[in-house]
Order: sequence, then structure tokens, then C-alpha cells
Amino acid sequence: MEPASDPSRFEIVERAVELRVDSKRLAELLANGAEFIAVWRGQNLFGQSGQGQPVLVPASKAQHLSTPIFLGLRSDGVALFAVNVADADTHDAALSAIGLDDGAAAFVQLREFKGTLSPQERSTLLYSRALLHWHDTQRFCSRCGSPTVATEGGHVMVCNNPECQHQFFPRSDPATIMLVHRPGFCLLGRQPSWPEDVYSTLAGFVEAGESAEQAVIREVKEESGIEIRNLRYFSSQPWPFPQSLMLGFFAEAVTTEIVIGSELADVRWFSVEETRSVLARLSARFPHLDTIARRLIRTWLEEQG
Ligand SMILES: [Zn+2]
Repeated sequence: MEPASDPSRFEIVERAVELRVDSKRLAELLANGAEFIAVWRGQNLFGQSGQGQPVLVPASKAQHLSTPIFLGLRSDGVALFAVNVADADTHDAALSAIGLDDGAAAFVQLREFKGTLSPQERSTLLYSRALLHWHDTQRFCSRCGSPTVATEGGHVMVCNNPECQHQFFPRSDPATIMLVHRPGFCLLGRQPSWPEDVYSTLAGFVEAGESAEQAVIREVKEESGIEIRNLRYFSSQPWPFPQSLMLGFFAEAVTTEIVIGSELADVRWFSVEETRSVLARLSARFPHLDTIARRLIRTWLEEQG
């Protein structure tokens, strides 16, 4: 099989939500050159034994796999689907289930992939990962415990108990991520599991009944003891590890004395120069994932001139 070297083959220009309920049209798309993003045990498929670019599987090789999820349409009208090679017990079995040999391609965790990805490839891989993870965790009804069945192109799971029929939808857990700064310095922390010299922005989940802004203020205080003001929304990023939506903020520090919270191994103020090195190390760690943490730090550095 040809490795997909053209990033536009991963670009979904339209989610085509109206097609999810049109099973006749979905069947036609499947029969007419659709391509699949195959995932096995949460791992994505990359060419050249896992070193190359992500690979799409033609529908003819994947149509026997159950519950493909309709992702959307490319600019050439081809439909992309995500599918879980769930029944394969081994890596070799997973490859042969989609008509590939060991050596041509390999399933690799997205976070362990060492190459680079285009924004289109990254976005579509994260989208398919989010939906397949949700399918995995929503196999039973949380109201009555009966099995669920995928419907609407895989975007709704419905309880198969006729007396219940409760519907479930994909979910994202909101989380905040923030670059706290004062003139000439920014505040970065290190998680205990990270390498010694890797630091990044502070982050934390939004709790029930809490606004994103309240979560930013609380998390910064908990993790660093720093008080902040003038929150500025930056941007967001889906982060399906397993199912977060990261909401990025800048905030000005009002205090400077750090009290390291229980979740982090270290929190420090970094000068502009030190922050440039931090950013280089972060970029080297996951070169293919242009994380919102990196974009926050890069933007702050740009603003420092
Ligand atoms: Zn139910």
C-alpha cells in the first residue's frame, strides 16, 4: 500500500453532520472509495514500520470491521471513517486484519510517534482517537447496564433495552492551561513523572459548577501559591488523552512568592532567555504535537520581543 504522504488526504473540510442520519448515503460513501483511519489498542497506524507518515486504509480492506465511525468529507468528496481493529490479539493480527504486512506499517501511540505531522493529519488523528475512545468506554448504558448500539454514523450510542433507549453523546472534559507572567518572567512547573529539565505551563481540570476563569485562579493558587489577575483567553485545543478540551489563558501575577503544591515536583519563575530553552526542550519531546502549552509559551516569548 502507498503510504499517505499527502497531508491533504487527512483534511476533513466538512463534518457533514446531516449525513450521519442518512444510512443509505453512508453506505454509498463506504462503497465508493472511502478511506479509514485504523486504530488498534489506542494506537495509530504509521507507514515504514511506524517511522513514516500516518496511513489511511482503503475501505475495501476494512469493510469487515464493525462500527466504522463517519468522520466527514475531504475536498475531493471522499469520506473518512475511523475504525477500531478491536478483535486482533496481536500487532501482527491487527495489521493482517487490514491487509498489511509487518514492515510496511506499524501501530504506534500518537504520543510516542517520533516524526512530524501536518496540522490536518494531527487534527484528524485526534478526532478519530476521541471518538474511538468514547466508543470503548460507552459500551454499556450507565442507566440500566444494557449494551449500547452505535447509531448516527457512530456519533450516538443508544441503549438497546427497549424500555430505556437512553442516548449517549461523545463528551469532552474541560481543562484549563495557563501561562502566568510578570514583567520579564513566566511561571512554569514540572510534574514528578517528567524528565528533570522539562517544564511547562500550569494546568488543571475545571471542577463541577466552576467557570473556566475560576478554575484558572484556583489551579494557579493550588499549584504555585501565586495570585493572579487580568485573565486573557488565548485559544483551545482538543486533547483526547483521553478526553479533554484544553482552554488556554494568559494571566498576570499579583504576587511573586512560590509555594509548590502537592501535584508538582517544582514550580519556578523563568526569565525570557531560560524560557526559550524550555520551549526548545518541550518541542523536542513531542515534535509532532504542537501543544497549546507550546503555543502559549511561544506567543508570550513573541510578545517579549
Ligand atoms: Zn439503558
